[in-house]
Amino acid sequence: MAQEKIAAITRKEIVWEARQIEDAAGKFVFPGAIDVHAHLNDPGYNWREDFEHGTMAAAAGGVTTIIDMPLQNAPALTDASLFRAKHEAVQKKALVDYAFWGGLVDDTPDKMAELHDAGVVAFKIFIGPVSPDYRSLGMGPIREAMQKAASLGALVGFHAEDYSIIKHEEARALREGRKGRADFLRSRPLSAELIATENVINLVRETGAGAHICHVSHPDAAELIRRARSEGLPVSAETCTHYLVYSEEDLLRDGAIYKCAPPLREREAVDRLWDYVADGTLQCVASDHSPCAQREKSEENGAFEAWGGISGIQTTMQVFYDAATRRNLSPTLIPKALSEGPARIFGLYGRKGAVDIGFDADLVIFDPDREWSVTPDSLFYLNKISAFVGLKGKGLPVATFVRGKLVHKDGERKADWGCGRLKLKNGGDG
Ligand SMILES: [Zn+2]
Repeated sequence: MAQEKIAAITRKEIVWEARQIEDAAGKFVFPGAIDVHAHLNDPGYNWREDFEHGTMAAAAGGVTTIIDMPLQNAPALTDASLFRAKHEAVQKKALVDYAFWGGLVDDTPDKMAELHDAGVVAFKIFIGPVSPDYRSLGMGPIREAMQKAASLGALVGFHAEDYSIIKHEEARALREGRKGRADFLRSRPLSAELIATENVINLVRETGAGAHICHVSHPDAAELIRRARSEGLPVSAETCTHYLVYSEEDLLRDGAIYKCAPPLREREAVDRLWDYVADGTLQCVASDHSPCAQREKSEENGAFEAWGGISGIQTTMQVFYDAATRRNLSPTLIPKALSEGPARIFGLYGRKGAVDIGFDADLVIFDPDREWSVTPDSLFYLNKISAFVGLKGKGLPVATFVRGKLVHKDGERKADWGCGRLKLKNGGDG
């Protein structure tokens, strides 16, 4: 490693000038994971999560770069001065590298150019209703934003669920006094995800803008993306580990700890979703880490009122590895979906995303034989609650390096907060 980068890869036993030698015999050395979709909530809602806890959890989970979606922030990151304020607020707290999404929550996308110049790696648009902190956009403003994105060479990411279907079904359920878990699921049907995804693809075809579909929950939505890509359209997509291991039965049985949007789907869909991860249609697996306080998961006022979001930044790599290898998929899928795919989509490839000469020395030593069980105590989150608590498996990141610096080993922090750096779209550091 030289100047924080990988200087050589060799099979020969040469002792390089090294400050530190780490023996990884019997283990995998993966490139650090890039979590392209995480809400660290700092500043603004740092009683849900903050940068210290969120980046420590990331480091423990083998994530060396987080793309933070600063919309559950107060204020949300929607212009260049807020970009600078956000950076100022978190830079001394980061244990791993990070980049920012920008938010497009206004009907007039007039801040896109300044946000793009500030260095956001992508813009986020909500088509479906989410939390009161965001505004969803209709197809008119979205079309205008995509025309702008095409001229800037910017990427636009979507929460793809149709607003009007969901709002209509929510209102109908509440009017009829139906507030249960099954009612919540019925208010967010698969058709809402398919319609929104199809709309985005149509606008990509018209505008030429690059689009990224966040948290694809169902294989039928993945199939639309596969067809768009085979047409040559610049459409990328992610899914999350919760859609790959849990189903709606978990939500129906155990409640809001499994609540997220789009919602968990039927078991048969979970199995088929894996086909699209394996064939590379879904090029990244992210956490959509959406933490909350324990009380916010209460279903006292019905399932609709409970917080929708699952904490998973720490467990993505271990859960994905365990679930993939149980399905007899190759461990090479881990660096493809967690590092290379994300880096290529978000403009970080060459710096991040591979173990190769000249890349940042972001490395994870992964023990394929280490058995684990997710307990609240094992989580570094501010709020130690997650749908993944109770899950057991095999294969765990045991040491994490960010640009050559050991930041985590065996569940312990090994560097000072503040060593993580802001990565900008244009290739530089903030
Ligand atoms: Zn999200």
